[in-house]
Amino acid sequence: MENIKLSFEKDSAIALKNIKLQRALNKAIDQFRNVRWRAVREFQDWEQLRVSARRIKEWTIDHLDGYLEMLEANVINAGGNVHWASDANEACEIILDIAQKHKVKSVVKSKSMATEEIELNHSFEGAGIKVVETDLGEYIIQLANERPSHIIAPAIHKTKDDISKLFVEKLNTPYFNEPEDLTKIAREKLRNEFLNADMGVSGVNFSVAETGTIVIVENEGNARLTTTVPRIHVALMGIEKVIPRFEDLPIFLNILIRSATGQKMSTYVSLITGPKRNSDLDGPEEFHLVIMDNGRSKILSNEETRESLYCIRCGACLYICPVYKKVGGHSYGWVYQGPIGAIITPQLLGIDKASDLPFASSLCGACKDVCPVKINIPRVLLELRARVINDKRVGARFLLRIAVKLWRFTMENTSFYNLALRLSYILQKPWIRHGRLVSLPFPFSRWTKKRDFPAISKIPFRKQWKEIKDLEF
Ligand code: SF4
Repeated sequence: MENIKLSFEKDSAIALKNIKLQRALNKAIDQFRNVRWRAVREFQDWEQLRVSARRIKEWTIDHLDGYLEMLEANVINAGGNVHWASDANEACEIILDIAQKHKVKSVVKSKSMATEEIELNHSFEGAGIKVVETDLGEYIIQLANERPSHIIAPAIHKTKDDISKLFVEKLNTPYFNEPEDLTKIAREKLRNEFLNADMGVSGVNFSVAETGTIVIVENEGNARLTTTVPRIHVALMGIEKVIPRFEDLPIFLNILIRSATGQKMSTYVSLITGPKRNSDLDGPEEFHLVIMDNGRSKILSNEETRESLYCIRCGACLYICPVYKKVGGHSYGWVYQGPIGAIITPQLLGIDKASDLPFASSLCGACKDVCPVKINIPRVLLELRARVINDKRVGARFLLRIAVKLWRFTMENTSFYNLALRLSYILQKPWIRHGRLVSLPFPFSRWTKKRDFPAISKIPFRKQWKEIKDLEF
């Protein structure tokens, strides 16, 4: 994580020219928006559900230390082991240590953004341990040696044809172009991996403090196999995943599943409390829960941005975001994409490593409207933008302050505003082509390089409007 430096500006410019990506995103995102809309509309008290979920999150995050201790005690009571990791390196070391102590040779993984965050696969591979992703989307991404481009649909950027060719190249299969055939191939390959794995690694959607239960939501059954077939199960969670009581769970299952996939309920909801008991038919002999901080307590300590920790990773803000729909997930450069990526990545990695991301938004507010836990993403983005500006060199800050003061003076002073308009109209002439301003000189070129800028009209809008009104009445 130390060497990461993201460049949304550069990567999104490349993505915008990728026609295949645009097609894949348009199709998948339009489909999703419709199903989510239906799932939300049919739930009578959706707004009340959001309010309740938000309140529980606020309360839990404000009392996080107590609930995490309660969770630890109850996991241990149920026969499990709990480990605390302060950062990504420590989390990898803990999990690798468990694997090496048990002479693990092969690991199956179910989808987990937390394990992506710590790049756990690299650690396993570096130690000579085979690791296989078992969620279909993640399996495709692993074969393609790429990063996920969506927190719920990791391979959303790939077309059927891309996947068919990938399977031909990496799995030596014939070319099939039907999703059913491709799924069947993956299922057959993965079945053996489950049966031969010594360890299963999963993420955690929620953990219930009062019972020590972890909850995993999925549709493919791979998470259930990952957590029950191998003899050891390791679950990795960020500190923010805990909820206080079992009776809170239906609220969160409802808002997560409806927001994530538009279903009323996912095909599998696994509730895991400790390892296999004597009376159980299956399950792991050992259960380990790794609770990871990795920059989260820094977010917790800042009241302005703390609500970023309420996120339940439903992905709804990605689907609704007009910026994500155009540039796709890889432009965000790291594990979390879209609006949630734009606020969480700069906070987890450091604002200096992701200073473009708070600006990767039109601030339209659609993300805030769909977020099931009502995170005010635009407000957090503005707060992070202010931090980026404050981090800049004194000279840049000084110039910005002068520019804002000048803007304010112009806006408050009608005759100066009119004079500025008149002057701009005259000065813009050398840069006008077909009624538009093109490639203005520095510093204005930073705007025209990427955006349209209509030429300033000779007749001000006020005057034009007045003339229309006079004609009408
Ligand atoms: S910020 Fe809200 S909408 Fe976006 S992933 Fe998190 S919970 Fe879902």
